[in-house]
Amino acid sequence: MKTLDVVVPVYNEEECIEKTLERLLKLKEAFKGKLKVNFIFVNDGSKDSSAYILEKHAKEDKSIKLINFSRNFGHQMALSAGLDYSKGDYIAIIDADLQDPPELIYNMYEKCLEGYDIVYGKRLKRKSETVFKKLTAWGFYRTLKSMCNLDIPTDTGDFRFITKDVRDAFNSMREKHRFIRGMIPWTGFKSAPLPYNRDERAAGVTKYPLSKMLKLAFDGIFSFSTKPVEFLFALSAVLFIASIFVLIGLFISEFEEEWIISFVLTFLSSIHMLAFGILGQYISRIYDETRDRPLYIVKDAINF
Ligand code: UDP
Ligand code: MG
Repeated sequence: MKTLDVVVPVYNEEECIEKTLERLLKLKEAFKGKLKVNFIFVNDGSKDSSAYILEKHAKEDKSIKLINFSRNFGHQMALSAGLDYSKGDYIAIIDADLQDPPELIYNMYEKCLEGYDIVYGKRLKRKSETVFKKLTAWGFYRTLKSMCNLDIPTDTGDFRFITKDVRDAFNSMREKHRFIRGMIPWTGFKSAPLPYNRDERAAGVTKYPLSKMLKLAFDGIFSFSTKPVEFLFALSAVLFIASIFVLIGLFISEFEEEWIISFVLTFLSSIHMLAFGILGQYISRIYDETRDRPLYIVKDAINF
């Protein structure tokens, strides 16, 4: 029988992990006679009892597999590890907080059988998420789309269902700054959306504070687009033309208006700073790639 691996990243989810397990385990019933279901939980350095709870269940049920990271490496690394360890014919990726209904994995499988290699969850409504989160997400997905040549679906997180061909292609990509919802479409396999309403978190609070959201957004933009650098070229051309006008103006005013020069100088230096900042983003990424460190460190792995 073919197998399905359900990859679940976990970071300090002790408040909802039992509930999540309960709902995920029901997938075994749903897929009975069709697919053998395994669960790959990746504990991303949780400081609470998440690992303890998962280990307890893993002892009783061999289909529950657990990877423990040595520390918190981040959501995208946790997913990457889950995909690295997966040997299944199909793979589903889902968060541990039940915002994405696990039951939909079966619908994704059915859609996949229609001839798609990637079925991604497309968020229609996002219950009880802050206006700030909804607005920034809305703006981000659209900015990214307008900046990339790649067709990254909007309003789509990492909740998705893929075949092993996509997994193998994805696993061959070892870049350090990972924006998985962009990397999977990059593989180019045939994909289809599955629209759904995003639920509230089952319990606890988000493990994605603004700092982690910003890091993910930067990884998305700077790993998938060279538009910021192209923008600098355009900006420098505009500035050059503007400076010629200022020069003409200075001649006409017989160099009286010195404050204009100071304004231009401050303005130019701020543009320089922006340029350095953007170039720095790319340079730091080159630096990271050349260091060639592993993406994550596994402390131990259970039931593999
Ligand atoms: N997560 C993780 N490592 C982190 C942060 C989050 O593995 O450093 C997991 C978390 O446990 C959850 C998923 O990633 O399963 C998404 O996080 P969360 O639900 O907090 O993000 P949100 O839905 O609020 O964007
Ligand atoms: Mg969540």
